[in-house]
Amino acid sequence: MQRRWDVGAPGTRGRYRAVVDQGGDGEVDVRRSHRRRRTVSAYREGQRTVVLIPARFTPEQEREWVATMLTRLRAKDRRRRPNDAALAARAALLSQRHLAGRARPASVAWVDNQQARWGSCTPADATIRISSRLRPMPSYVLDYVLLHELAHLLQPSHGAKFWALLESYPLTERARGFLQGYSLACGDLPAEEPEHADPGTVH
Ligand SMILES: [Zn+2]
Repeated sequence: MQRRWDVGAPGTRGRYRAVVDQGGDGEVDVRRSHRRRRTVSAYREGQRTVVLIPARFTPEQEREWVATMLTRLRAKDRRRRPNDAALAARAALLSQRHLAGRARPASVAWVDNQQARWGSCTPADATIRISSRLRPMPSYVLDYVLLHELAHLLQPSHGAKFWALLESYPLTERARGFLQGYSLACGDLPAEEPEHADPGTVH
């Protein structure tokens, strides 16, 4: 991986942009702290990565520690989200197969806190979240929900144009029926929201 190191002088704040961003680090923001003596820490903050280092570090130490912390964070990400990568790969395949590859999500992730929805999509930042309640369900159901959210990247509303995008997926009706049956059987169908009037609907 190549990186451009813009700032490295002690007492300054460094901001590093990944030239080839293979690790998903995004922009790396290096913050120097006078209160820190030896400890270095790093965390993800939205699309960027923040690395906190002692103010007295030399540019060499900074480079070395930033690289070390990024390696550690990537390993941690892999441990924590082994299945998000598989989910994203599945989404890429479905987009290719049914949407001519036009839907390109920035991220696809499993979420545990999405009780009222099977999936959701934020077109503004192209992120897709899939409820972990779908994990044990048949793969054609998960594929349908993924494709549904991918289609929202191209068509935000549930109009005729939206459903036309899903036409080439042959199991749409079967998957909607499965989700409808599941919702009714579990009795956890939210009644107030109009979008949930059809229990097979994903958002
Ligand atoms: Zn929808």
